[in-house]
Amino acid sequence: MIEIDGSLGEGGGQVLRSALTLAVMTGQPMRITNIRARRKKPGLQAQHLAAVNAAAAISGAEVEGAHLGASELRFQPGAVRPGDYRFDIGTAGAASLVLQTIFLPLGLAAGPSEVTIIGGTHVPWSPCFHYLDLQWLPFMHRIGFDTTLELLLAGFYPQGNGQIRARIEPIKTIAPLDLPERGGLKGIRGISAVANLDMSIAERQRKRALNRLQGRHNRIDIELLDLPARAKGTCLLLQAEFKRSSACYFGLGALGKRAEQVADEACLWLEKFLATNGAVDEYLADQLLLPLAFAEGPSEYRTAKVTPHLLTNAEIIRMFDVATIEIEDDSGKSGLVRITPGSKKP
Ligand code: ATP
Repeated sequence: MIEIDGSLGEGGGQVLRSALTLAVMTGQPMRITNIRARRKKPGLQAQHLAAVNAAAAISGAEVEGAHLGASELRFQPGAVRPGDYRFDIGTAGAASLVLQTIFLPLGLAAGPSEVTIIGGTHVPWSPCFHYLDLQWLPFMHRIGFDTTLELLLAGFYPQGNGQIRARIEPIKTIAPLDLPERGGLKGIRGISAVANLDMSIAERQRKRALNRLQGRHNRIDIELLDLPARAKGTCLLLQAEFKRSSACYFGLGALGKRAEQVADEACLWLEKFLATNGAVDEYLADQLLLPLAFAEGPSEYRTAKVTPHLLTNAEIIRMFDVATIEIEDDSGKSGLVRITPGSKKP
């Protein structure tokens, strides 16, 4: 039984989700205590509980302690069962994070899966659907995965009620990634989206971003989207496309927040990234660790920033003894991540 202290590093939901993925991937039982101890409202919240239930469903796990607010959980996984699944978070908790918890084992399973998740699709502090689709998924394809994503309904904070669907075709092996440099900037693309709001808001977001990014490149394209949703919301996402890589950031609308501010937030993140020599954004950097820990060979990539999330994820992977991870922090400017998978195979 692997014992995890949930207050480790970041001490948030990611410790739990990564431990669940690793337990399912390696078939090792685990006990996690102090779940999300470093968060204002500690313990299992709806999104984390949905991740536990999803990981249990796809692996026929025996679980003790899976209830809202729980600070301790025992999880004993069985064999991975591909198939059709539907998980409802019940709040605006991030659907993307629940999907990422079960993606790796289902991606390497013996048959295809179709997973529908109901919850938040555009909520703060998590990958929004378009980040998942335009940034995370192409990297997953690059290392061998065969998956498509669909946004059925957008779900914003605080209502949630969005819906995403993933069709996951199984693959046999994960290819390593070699990305020490990003190469030259090829252009910037983006999405300015609204749901149940006037398109003029999407136009304002786009205009502000175009004005602000002017001169960065002569190819900047921002597409306008009207998203299907039950409630109101807006999003502006920007992706810098480089010769060898890409980086992606977004801003989200909120009641009383001006369209220009939504655009400014995304622009500021992107501008900060462009000032580094990172090959991937700091979010993708922590999301790449788990799949690459099970790749066929060693990987290397340069992140724009060494974050507590990255360091924490690396620590949990070490605890399951699946890969060696070295992270060199280049005095806050960027960091080189090296992952050498070990002998423990799923
Ligand atoms: P908490 O316990 O803090 O409530 P949580 O379960 O919502 O946490 P974290 O443990 O903070 O989540 O993990 C958040 C994940 O979402 C990380 O993998 C991080 O990279 C990702 N993420 C956060 N913000 C963004 C963003 N703007 N773009 C892409 N990914 C993001």
